[in-house]
Amino acid sequence: MEQRYYQKEIETMPVEEIKKLQSQKLVKQVQHVWDHVPYYRALMEEKGVTPADIHGIEDLYKLPFLSKADLRDAYPYGLLGKPLKDCVRIQSTSGTTGRRVVAFYTQHDVDLWEDCCARAIVAAGGSEEDVVQVAYGYGLFTGGAGMHGGSHKVGSLTLPMSSGNTERQIQFMQDLSATILCCTPSYAAYIGETLKEQGYTPDQIPLKAGIFGAEPWTEEMRRGIEKTLGIKAYDIYGLTETSGPGVAFECCEQTGMHINEDHFLAEIIDPDTGEVLPEGSKGELVFTSLDKEAFPLLRYRTRDICVLSRKKCSCGRTLIKMAKPMGRSDDMMIIRGVNVFPSQIEAVLLKEGYEPNYQIVVDRVGNNDTFDVNVEMNPDKFTDTVSGITEQERALANAMKIMLGINPKVHLVAPKSIVCSEGKAVRVIDKRKLHD
Ligand code: ADP
Ligand code: ZN
Repeated sequence: MEQRYYQKEIETMPVEEIKKLQSQKLVKQVQHVWDHVPYYRALMEEKGVTPADIHGIEDLYKLPFLSKADLRDAYPYGLLGKPLKDCVRIQSTSGTTGRRVVAFYTQHDVDLWEDCCARAIVAAGGSEEDVVQVAYGYGLFTGGAGMHGGSHKVGSLTLPMSSGNTERQIQFMQDLSATILCCTPSYAAYIGETLKEQGYTPDQIPLKAGIFGAEPWTEEMRRGIEKTLGIKAYDIYGLTETSGPGVAFECCEQTGMHINEDHFLAEIIDPDTGEVLPEGSKGELVFTSLDKEAFPLLRYRTRDICVLSRKKCSCGRTLIKMAKPMGRSDDMMIIRGVNVFPSQIEAVLLKEGYEPNYQIVVDRVGNNDTFDVNVEMNPDKFTDTVSGITEQERALANAMKIMLGINPKVHLVAPKSIVCSEGKAVRVIDKRKLHD
């Protein structure tokens, strides 16, 4: 297939040139932040760094980190880089980890964000011929706004559905021949299951591609969605703190997401020591916004764990790639002394033939951790005998024990009974945190 790009000159720019561009932008951005963001200037002074010490990306390591705690301290205006009268938009995190963050945008910032989303849509095969169904939540959440703007930039016909009301999603998808679906992978899986229940086969669904992100999902889940909907499913990554979706996006190779390096400078660090790790190492992803004006975060610690790679990509893009994040450093639970990632549970469910609709509930009784996993029953494996259900629960618990090394209690619950907030699944309820 012939490759198309939204901004070819950037997306295929030789690496040395990208680095030069990043260096120039970084020098300017550090000066901007020093001049306009007293909160960060104080952090720099504490570290004994001034803009004069930053000559290019090789000096990035000298700058202090920002963390979610800083964003909370500085809430709401403390990290603003422009007067409010120059800002045109506020968005907020979805609060998956309980703490909302607000981010500000000038028109310039909205533009560059929408360009990033447009790159993702074109990489997924989108053009002005396409009908893009945006089923991410609209409103404060960045998913809807970002993909909506990106779709306009590409010139696609945009269907601003927002999330929820699945019956209507399906009706519009069918009646208006939507070709690209944008939503969270958990919602895509849900839409797929509903279509299947209604008797649609993949060839009766007009979609050709999906752009799914905003939460972790496994390769098995991708293949499942692709099969049910009859599409190619592309990953997209972003966070409110840096703008929203489109910080990185997948191309046809489906082997990681190209980071929009002209706007976001990525590093991988050791989450415990803060040391910068060489390319190819697994660690915490850190982003520096190179040209955002209103919310110009430098060295922001995402807590997302992943790996970067500059391996040549067959799509022709030279932008560095990040692997699918394997969960956040604070997503990892320690249950009975063992590290558990929700993605491990998901992998087991898919392997055992269940939909990845689950919720983990951890609590502490006396000194012991309880570990329960609620899993939606699979209609294909339906049984209404108590012994049949107990047998399925036992088999699942066993498979999880093999994967994790500890034994959960598995409870099968009715299909579609596990709640989604804004289409973003709540996978973990850790009640221990409430008692501490
Ligand atoms: P919140 O922190 O409240 O979830 P956001 O809505 O801004 O706020 O979500 C950003 C986070 O979502 C990222 O830091 C990352 O953990 C997760 N995320 C976004 N896209 C992906 C993706 N494609 N794969 C895995 N995780 C993702
Ligand atoms: Zn590529």
